[in-house]
Amino acid sequence: MKSQDIRSKFLSFFEQKKHSIVPSAPMVLKDDPTLMFVNSGMAPFKEYFLGNAQPKNSRIADSQKCLRVSGKHNDLEEVGYDTYHHTLFEMLGNWSFGDYFKKEAIAWAWELLTEVYGIDKDILYVTVFEGSDDADNLKMDTEAYDIWKQYISEDRILKGNKKDNFWEMGEQGPCGPCSEIHVDIRSAEEKAKVDGKSLVNMDHPQVVEIWNLVFMQYNRKANGSLEILPNKHIDTGMGFERLCMVLQGVQSNYDTDVFTPIIREIETITDKDYGKEEKVDVAIRVISDHVRAVAFSIADGQLPSNTGAGYVIRRILRRAVRYGFTFLDKKEPFIYRLVDVLVKKMGEAFPELKVQRQLIENVIKEEEASFLRTLDQGLMLLDRIVESAKTKEISGAKVFELKDTYGFPEDLTDLILREKGFTYNVEDFEKKLKEQQDRGKKASELKSDDWTVLIDDEEQEFIGYDTLEAQVKIVKYRKV
Ligand code: ATP
Ligand code: MG
Ligand code: MG
Ligand code: MG
Repeated sequence: MKSQDIRSKFLSFFEQKKHSIVPSAPMVLKDDPTLMFVNSGMAPFKEYFLGNAQPKNSRIADSQKCLRVSGKHNDLEEVGYDTYHHTLFEMLGNWSFGDYFKKEAIAWAWELLTEVYGIDKDILYVTVFEGSDDADNLKMDTEAYDIWKQYISEDRILKGNKKDNFWEMGEQGPCGPCSEIHVDIRSAEEKAKVDGKSLVNMDHPQVVEIWNLVFMQYNRKANGSLEILPNKHIDTGMGFERLCMVLQGVQSNYDTDVFTPIIREIETITDKDYGKEEKVDVAIRVISDHVRAVAFSIADGQLPSNTGAGYVIRRILRRAVRYGFTFLDKKEPFIYRLVDVLVKKMGEAFPELKVQRQLIENVIKEEEASFLRTLDQGLMLLDRIVESAKTKEISGAKVFELKDTYGFPEDLTDLILREKGFTYNVEDFEKKLKEQQDRGKKASELKSDDWTVLIDDEEQEFIGYDTLEAQVKIVKYRKV
């Protein structure tokens, strides 16, 4: 089944169950200061859960673009090294705002997976919340357990702790116990390796969580306490790329048709093969993942910049550039050339990609070019720093200098250092950074006058992009 069909089957299934199908919200929510990027399907609906707003239909389903690169949910380090965590991914979700609750949510999830998609029941496992004896003092979710018993044998219902089975969007906000559905796609040989006692090893890379059903009952307040929500809600999130992996019978998200066209294009451009050498494979996975994050983000109006969410996007892109530079020997911009296949693949489901295609390509190309100009020198300098280091810890001042002079984001430096078995003094680095920011604040009144919007003037030196209101982009140039 092609990924497009997998997505539409999900949506039409819930449409039949009287859900309104809505498009994905943008990844940056302007009116939610608690969240830098949408990190789950529920984030755009927060006000409905809190009872501050009323949806037209109390049942909604969609596929939401999510980015997990900051805050409570940050998967950046995993990306490329495992085969099922992405920076940007689609979360398929169905919601009940004070309408149906656990019974229907579980029944429909089961029906969709086993009947509509035809997943073999024998590879499915579910988890329920075991309760907690901490300050929240929560009871075990026996209600969910008893419902699951009707569908699946009890040895496949596992109890999970708060970390895995109590879902929270961030430090504050709606939350509640959850039940996760896991799929065991290990090969027969792999399964034979585990001893008979444990039916399944949940930490095995081929035992993958695909769907989380959250039973929203609480709101975590700023002071850390839980209050009971006026109504009970359902919030579910299924990883689209992971679902495609299961339904397409492959063992990695990168082997689904969501990623293979991008990977083929990287192979063509770089003249490297995917699947031969681990370092190259990691780099190819990182780049195919990161180009999606950056492209979708630009399409949603969040361009790379030096602060806040824009800086996160810049860091992601620079990370991709460096993987290409070091492991695929690409010394000139090429990531922007992947936008074409991406738009062909995803443009139907996400028309914003089509609309902003030119902008996405231009921005990525410019960013790549400007970072490549200093990458080589910066890497050489970093090598020298490592060679002359007397301990395994590099000073914060050196890491700051790399950021300031060569545009090496600290997490990139950290990554390269770790590859060489080094760390750096974070505290010291942050002190240096703060000093610079304080100096910047003093000069900030002048800043707005230094900027002029002047496009197509060859006398201008390009220095970056910025965003004004959502969806309205201007290119900023500085007079030279
Ligand atoms: P995991 O334990 O694998 O990190 P999670 O418990 O953090 O997943 P949830 O917050 O429950 O994930 O999100 C709902 C679903 O979204 C997950 O069941 C999974 O299928 C998918 N998902 C979560 N994080 C990612 C990611 N980084 N990339 C791709 N899919 C993801
Ligand atoms: Mg996670
Ligand atoms: Mg999990
Ligand atoms: Mg989960």
